[in-house]
Parts: sequence; structure tokens; C-alpha cells
Amino acid sequence: MKLKKINDLFNATTTNHLETQELGIKFSKFIKNGDIVTLNGDLGSGKTTFVKGVLMGLGYESEVTSPTYTLINEYRTKYNIIHLDCYREKDINRWLNIGLIDYFNNQNILFIEWAENIKNILPNKTKNLFFEVIKSNQRLIKYYE
Ligand code: ADP
Ligand code: MG
Repeated sequence: MKLKKINDLFNATTTNHLETQELGIKFSKFIKNGDIVTLNGDLGSGKTTFVKGVLMGLGYESEVTSPTYTLINEYRTKYNIIHLDCYREKDINRWLNIGLIDYFNNQNILFIEWAENIKNILPNKTKNLFFEVIKSNQRLIKYYE
């Protein structure tokens, strides 16, 4: 079977959290070192759920938690996955002080929730996911490079 193109995965609605994870699993086949992926959408729209799927797709078997309070979670898989949440910390200087820029290199792949809060220090070439709550369990997920 031919592997689908990345764009074929998106503009789809998911109807429960497992389907959003499944999309993350599929997305994990397309990522490469140096990628910076922003996850945009309201609280509860499925951003963290999607990243859990990505880690499942990379064979990560331990717990994956939201970085809302830890700000940065790091997972060693075949890639070094850095999962950030900029919801609570909007002060760019704090992010610079904790060394965020050091993660922007070809040894890491970043997934960033609420990336708009740090857009001034993000590299131009991000990949961007948009999560929209359609109904209680329905999410529309879009992707733009
Ligand atoms: P975010 O990181 O965007 O704040 P989470 O992924 O942490 O959101 O939470 C999404 C919540 O919505 C979870 O409680 C999940 O069970 C629920 N949910 C319901 N339907 C879906 C869906 N289709 N996709 C993802 N999450 C869903
Ligand atoms: Mg989240």
C-alpha cells in the first residue's frame, strides 16, 4: 500500500480522542529532525491528545502528560521529542532564560502548544496544526506548512 501524503491526513474530523491519537500516530511517520510543529486551538481541543498519538507512533510506552505546568516535557524515542506548552508562560524572556533557543536544532523535534505566545522567537519554517471544536466530541484538524 502506498503511504498517503501528509495533507491527505488532515481537514478531517475526529469523533473521539482515540481518532485524534490515531491521526497523531500517522503524523509521526512524516516528521523529521529539526521540525517545529505548532498546535493551535482552544483548551480541550485535542492538542495534547494528538501529541500522545505521535509518541505512541514512535513506540514510546511510558506515560505522556500535558506540559501545561511543567512547560517542557522531553521524550527520548528514535527522535528527541520536545513538547512545550506556552499557555501559562507568555513572557518571552522567561523562555529565552530557560534556553528555549537551544532546542531549535536538528537534534530535536518540537511540538508547541500556544505557540502564538512565543511567535517572535520561533523560526519561520514551522509546521502548523489547527484544532477546532465542532461539537462535544468532534474536532476538525487542519495542517499547513
Ligand atoms: P488540549 O491539549 O488542546 O487542551 P487535550 O488533548 O488535553 O486538549 O484534551 C482534549 C479533551 O477532549 C480530552 O478530555 C479528550 O478526551 C476530549 N475529546 C473529546 N473528543 C475528542 C476528539 N475528537 N479528539 C481529541 N480529544 C477529544
Ligand atoms: Mg494541552
